[in-house]
Order: sequence, then C-alpha cells, then structure tokens
Amino acid sequence: MKTKYSATSREECTRCPALCCKNLSMEIGKPVNRKEIEDLKWQLHFDTVKVYIRHRRWYQMVEGTCMYLSNDRCTIYEHRPKKCRAHNPPNCERFGEFFDVMLATPQELEDYYQNHMRRRRKGTKKKDPGRGKTERV
Ligand code: SF4
Ligand code: SF4
Repeated sequence: MKTKYSATSREECTRCPALCCKNLSMEIGKPVNRKEIEDLKWQLHFDTVKVYIRHRRWYQMVEGTCMYLSNDRCTIYEHRPKKCRAHNPPNCERFGEFFDVMLATPQELEDYYQNHMRRRRKGTKKKDPGRGKTERV
C-alpha cells in the first residue's frame, strides 16, 4: 500500500527521472472468461499497452509521458492530482518491481491463461472431479 508522502520520499523523487510520470497505470477488473481474455489480448496488440498483476489485482499500463512533465519535473507540482500525490516511494517504479506478472503481448496473456486453467483443472480434479466445467479465469 502507498506510504504517506514524507521529506525522505520527496528527496527520492528529486533524484528520480520521474518514472511514474512516463506511464499511466489503471486498475482493471480481472478477466473472468474467454471473451474478456480476448478483449484484453486485442488491447495488447498495441505496443504502448501492457497488463500487469500485482497482489492479485490486474492493471492496464499505457506507456506515454504526462503533458505536465518537463525536464523530468512536474510543472503543476503544487496542484498535481490526488493520484499523483498518493504515489510515493518506496512503493513505486524506482524501487524494485511494481508487478508480480507482466503481460506485454497477446501471446503472453494467452500462455498465462492456459497455465492458469491447467493449474485450476488440476486443483479442481483433486478436490471434486465433477466440478470446474465452466472456464473462468
Ligand atoms: S514516486 Fe517513485 S517513480 Fe515517481 S518520481 Fe518518486 S521516486 Fe520516481
Ligand atoms: S501531473 Fe505531475 S506528478 Fe502527475 S503524472 Fe503529471 S507530471 Fe507527474
């Protein structure tokens, strides 16, 4: 979870090339069926779009620089949106991986889905062989 903004985190941001202002991350619902997987695969045809999973939550990331960034500094710093204020080190791009799984292409998402379904079928078979006929992610 995000930490409160402090003098230390402000210093860390000052030393950073504004990594978090160079992509847009939005939480999305976890795809729950084949149609939603296909929709997400279609979005991954675009080379600026990625999907990642962090703490079991799914996010869509669009690469691109914020219009208010200039020379790696926010030009509306005092009036930046709440979402920007809430994004602080060390829970950010500069300090290690901010994702558990990154899916950059339709094939990577398909492979993830297939592996997930395989694991799920295995688990369901052990628990109850009669269940698990509907393919949900
Ligand atoms: S929040 Fe993290 S990624 Fe963003 S400017 Fe500060 S240190 Fe860099
Ligand atoms: S408004 Fe400022 S802090 Fe927020 S993403 Fe844009 S440049 Fe970064």
